[in-house]
Formats: sequence, structure tokens, C-alpha cells
Amino acid sequence: MKVFVTGGAGYIGSICVEELLNADHQVTVFDNLSEGHRVAVDERAQFIEGCLSDRETILNAVAADQPEAVMHFAAFAQVGESMTDPSKYFRNNVANGINLLDAAVEAGVKKFIFSSTAATYGMPDTVPITEQEPQKPINPYGESKLMFETLLKWYHELHGLEFVAFRYFNAAGCSEKLGEERTVETHLIPNVLRVALGQAKQCRIFGTDYPTPDGTCIRDYIHIIDLAQAHILALKPGKCGFYNLGNGEGYSVREVIETCRQVSGNPIPAIEEARRDGDPARLIAGSQKAIDELGWKPRYATLEQIVDSAWRWHSAHPNGYSG
Ligand code: UDP
Repeated sequence: MKVFVTGGAGYIGSICVEELLNADHQVTVFDNLSEGHRVAVDERAQFIEGCLSDRETILNAVAADQPEAVMHFAAFAQVGESMTDPSKYFRNNVANGINLLDAAVEAGVKKFIFSSTAATYGMPDTVPITEQEPQKPINPYGESKLMFETLLKWYHELHGLEFVAFRYFNAAGCSEKLGEERTVETHLIPNVLRVALGQAKQCRIFGTDYPTPDGTCIRDYIHIIDLAQAHILALKPGKCGFYNLGNGEGYSVREVIETCRQVSGNPIPAIEEARRDGDPARLIAGSQKAIDELGWKPRYATLEQIVDSAWRWHSAHPNGYSG
């Protein structure tokens, strides 16, 4: 299929583009390179540098490209920043996204695939979290993604736009060629691996008094390539709705650090700090819906496989893409 990918120069988008091309789809990437990297865009893809805030540009780009599907990854994704600058999140993740939705409708796009997040659930009452869990985001980032989910429901109802929205749990790991490099890195695995690379003295554990077996937060880590595969399955006609993406297994912060020690062979000192605001104790996905309805089969479900792929990329690219 012909797929138009926004945010295709970023971490998740670039690896989805690579997997789409490996599956013989044709790809156009649209990215403003504010967070993404030009070199992360697969050479087989066409590249347009542009911003979703520029309504004419995005309307013209989609009209000229005539894609069958749009995958929308372009968004800001830092929870902490969203608490201090909510306007940035609602403007980009919601208002600018409307330009893309309108462009898709005008161009007669058949399928719209959206990166949503487990952050739309807020502090869940139960785990594993199924798609039926009430969505009560606790920060503007999660709220902005939930608002876009709502837009998708209305565009589906009123314009017939078929959509799949994936609620990602903790996307992690790398492909052989492509990885994770952000201006500000807040995520656990890349921060822990920086210590193994000798780029930081110690990693930090945020909170050791959670009601979990070792007192640290539990998360469900999903390999980026498995996540990309779900997007490819969602291209099939007739697939529409909201899907969680995770492995259904939770690992604590201490377990992640221990796995990084084993994989890297580095002792990785860790210091214990206070809780980070807004972190739920435990987030584990119920992803049976994606398995049953999309035929999704994660191939790299263990934490070792996820960390190993990240370690291979980070040790081969100690300075990220700029190296
Ligand atoms: N975390 C940590 N130290 C770090 C980064 C993260 O202890 O340097 C914790 C964080 O508090 C959370 C878990 O690791 O409990 C996963 O955080 P991450 O930012 O990777 O993903 P999130 O679950 O917030 O999307």
C-alpha cells in the first residue's frame, strides 16, 4: 500500500517506516525534524520536510501523494513538559492533528492509524488494563492523545474514515539500523544504558516505596519492531478501533536495571531517589484484542531481547545519530 507517515523521522515512526518498506509498502515521510533525524528516514522512502501547523502544506502534500493510508506519529511526548507547557501539547497533538485529519478526508484516504498511549488511562483501577478500562488521563500529554482519539471516533462516524488507534505501553528496543535519540531523554532503558556506555556515573531509580514486590514501578515493555508489525496488520481493510499494545508482562525498574547489567556486562551503579510525579505503580497491558482481531504475534517479547536490541544500537551509536 501507499502509506503517508507523519513523524517518520522520530524513534517509533522511523522504525515503522523501515518495517513498512521491508514489507514492500511504499512510504512518504512528513516530518518537521523538530525531534526527528533526517538520517533516520530510510533511503527507500520519499521525504517531505514540513509542519502539521501549516494547514495548506499538509493539505497539498496529502492531496499530491494520494496515499491509501496515513500513519500519524508526529506528536510531543514528554509527560513532564506537558505539565509545564500544556499549550504546546494541545496545539501540536490536537489542533495540528486536525489539519492532517482534514487532509486525509479530502484526499479520500481509506485508513488512518494513530499512535495513542497508555497515558490515556491515567491511574488505572485494575491490571492488566483492557481497552474497556475508563480513560482518565492525569496529564496534558495523555489528555491530548485522548482528545485525538475522540476526534477519530467523530471523523469515522461523520466522514467514514476507518481508523486504528494503538495505545502503546512502554515502547523500547531498537532495530539494527535505527534507534532512540531525543533532545531530552527521560526514558528508563536509554538512561540506564548511558551509564553502561560511560556517559553517566549512575542511573536513577524514581521511587522505592510503591506497593510492588521490590518497591519500584512496574511497566510493560514492548519491542519497537513488534509495535511496528501491529501497525502493518492494521492496514488490512475492515480493521477499525482502539487497541492496547504491550506484552502483558510487567517488569520493575530494578529488574530493568538488572537486565541492562546482564546484557551490557557493566555494573551500572544506581541511586534511589524520590518518586517522579504522576507515575502509576503498575501499568500492564491486556493486548488480547490485538492478538485476536489483528492476528498480532509479538516476536521479541522478553525483556532480555528488548534490552539486547537497545544495547546493540546504543553501543554501535554512542553519540546517537550525530555520531
Ligand atoms: N524511571 C526511573 N529512572 C529513570 C527513568 C525512569 O526510575 O531514569 C522510572 C519511571 O519513574 C517509571 C519507569 O521507570 O516508573 C518507566 O519510565 P519511562 O519514562 O521509561 O516510561 P513511562 O512509563 O513514564 O512512559
